[in-house]
Amino acid sequence: MVQSNEPFSKVAVVGAGMVGSTFAYALMINGVARHLALIDHDPERAEGEAMDLEHSLSFLQPVQVEAGGYELCRNADIVVITAGAAQKPGETRLDLTHKNAEIVKSIIPRILEHNPAPILLMVSNPVDVLTYVAVKESGLDPGRVLGSGTVLDSSRFRHLLSQNCAVDVRNVHAYVIGEHGDSEVMVWSRANIAGVPMTELCPVCTQSCMLGAREGINEQVRKAAYEIIRRKSATYWAIGLAVTRIVEAILKDQDSVLTVSALTDGLYGIRDVCLSLPRVVGGQGVKRGLDVLLDIQEEKALVKSGKLIRRHIEAMES
Ligand code: NAD
Repeated sequence: MVQSNEPFSKVAVVGAGMVGSTFAYALMINGVARHLALIDHDPERAEGEAMDLEHSLSFLQPVQVEAGGYELCRNADIVVITAGAAQKPGETRLDLTHKNAEIVKSIIPRILEHNPAPILLMVSNPVDVLTYVAVKESGLDPGRVLGSGTVLDSSRFRHLLSQNCAVDVRNVHAYVIGEHGDSEVMVWSRANIAGVPMTELCPVCTQSCMLGAREGINEQVRKAAYEIIRRKSATYWAIGLAVTRIVEAILKDQDSVLTVSALTDGLYGIRDVCLSLPRVVGGQGVKRGLDVLLDIQEEKALVKSGKLIRRHIEAMES
C-alpha cells in the first residue's frame, strides 16, 4: 500500500523540466497530494519551479511544495521520474534509449538510499524500456514499478473517436496497448461508445466513415507527439494530466483500469519486457492485469510491439 494516509500523501518528482513541472501543477490544481517535492540535476530549475508553484497556493487546497536533493524522496509514496532528454524534431522515442537509460540507472540508487520501498512511476522516454530498467535496477516488487505507458495515447485515441463520432469523450471507451511509440496498437475490436461496440455502431451509423476514418485515426494517434513537437518543441499538458490520473488512482486506491506499462507475465507469449495493457491500478501500484480479448490482427501487432521493445532492451544491455 501507499506509505501514508491519503490526506498526507507525498509525491516526489525527479526532473523538473516541462513534463515534471506541468505534472506538478496538474497535481496541485487537482488537490491530489499534500506534499510535493521537486528534484533536478539543475537545482535552480527545481527551486524556480517550486517558487512559481507555491505562489498559486492561495488559490488552491493546501500543498507543501519544496525543492532540493534526493533526501526529499524520504516518505514519498510515489516517486515520478521525468528526468532526461526529450525527443527533438524527427527523433523517435527509442532514439533516446542509451542516454536516458544511463540517467535512470544513476537516479534509482539515489532514490532508494532515502526510501527503500516507494512506488516508482516512469515517464521519461522510451518509457517501456526505462520502466524495465527501473524494475531491474530497483529490485522492487514489479507491481510497484510502472510507466505512464499508453495512458496518454489512449486519451488521444478517445479524443479522436469522440470528435469523429460527435460524442462526449467520457462516453468513449477505447484503449491503446503495446509500446508507447510507433508500434502501439489501437484496440478497435473492443472500442465502444456507451457500451455499444464500434464494430456494431459503425455499420449502422449515417456518417459511413468507418474504414477511411480508422486508418486516419490510427495515424493521428501514432504521430501525435511528432506533430506537437514539430510545432512547439515538446508535449507536456496532456501527459501532465495523464500522470496525475495515475497518481490519483494509486494514492486513493481506486482500482482504476489504466493502460500503464509494467512487466509482462507471458500474456500472448510476451515475456520479460515492459509494455502497456489495461491494468488495475490502486494503492499497491499495479494490482493485476485484465485479460484483453484481441482480434487476430491486434494480437499479432501486440506481439510484434513486444518483440521490438525486447530488441531495444537487448541492444541497451549489449
Ligand atoms: P525537459 O528537458 O524539459 O526536462 C528534463 C529535465 O530533466 C531537465 O530539467 C533536466 O535538468 C532534468 N535532468 C536531466 N538529467 C537529469 C538527471 N540525471 N537527474 C535529474 N534530473 C535530470 O524535458 P521534458 O519535455 O520535461 O521531457 C522529459 C522526459 O519525458 C523526456 O524523456 C520525454 O521524452 C518524456 N515524455 C514522456 C511522455 C510520455 O507519455 N511518457 C510524454 C512527454 C514527454
